[in-house]
Amino acid sequence: VIDIRNVHRIFESEAGCAHILHNVSLAVNPGEFVAITGPSGSGKSTLMNILGCLDKPTAGDYYLQGLNVAELDDDELTEVRALSIGFVFQSFNLLPRLTVIENVMLPLAYTNVPRSQREMRAVHALQAVTLPVDHWDHRISELSGGQMQRVAIARALVNDPPIILADEPTGNLDSATGALVMETFHKLQKRGKTIVLITHDPGIAAEADRAVTIRDGRIHDGAYIPHAPRTLRGAVDSLPMISAS
Ligand code: ATP
Ligand code: MG
Repeated sequence: VIDIRNVHRIFESEAGCAHILHNVSLAVNPGEFVAITGPSGSGKSTLMNILGCLDKPTAGDYYLQGLNVAELDDDELTEVRALSIGFVFQSFNLLPRLTVIENVMLPLAYTNVPRSQREMRAVHALQAVTLPVDHWDHRISELSGGQMQRVAIARALVNDPPIILADEPTGNLDSATGALVMETFHKLQKRGKTIVLITHDPGIAAEADRAVTIRDGRIHDGAYIPHAPRTLRGAVDSLPMISAS
């Protein structure tokens, strides 16, 4: 469902160019749970923003559910993002003066889910992350870090997207709360979701199906499941000499 090939990201500013991602290739299969680890500043969030279509590669290709992201216009991109991806930001990005349930309903504003169903969707998402009902009408500013994290995950789930991208979802949590949050991700994987999660914590990375390590903007480990385009693969399969060797 995710396939990036030879991606570079270069940020240009008056101070000069910063080449942050170098020739990154990564494929994630449907239903897979992949952890991305690496030191601070290694480019994990930069990569995640590209996977979430919040940013575009300077060079290289990104195929999301078979679509070439570079070929989509802004409206198509907004739609693909709303329907395909739930994004949990490193800094939560919740609106502090809105209530829990209002925050969770926000992404539905970009879809054609009828108003009457929006609250029900938000309720299901909040139940999935086990946030107690008596907190649902609290303002975000009244919650603990772990509760905010669960609201951020509920908001990523509210559209029921097939792909969940989470940037350090346990980074600010004590280990017990972190374990609860991880349980939520495991449950989501059992329900068929594809999950890509950034973490500093080797214990959490070990819970994933596969851990990918990034250092200085390069993938060091766990990178790429070769994944030829279907037409090509069909052609190769039909060559007896190759399958025999
Ligand atoms: P952390 O673990 O601390 O979250 P990270 O691996 O997520 O780190 P990134 O946020 O991807 O790291 O940043 C990688 C590098 O890219 C950093 O040196 C950062 O300063 C730089 N960078 C990120 N975004 C931009 C930007 N918009 N413009 C210029 N430089 C940027
Ligand atoms: Mg980061």
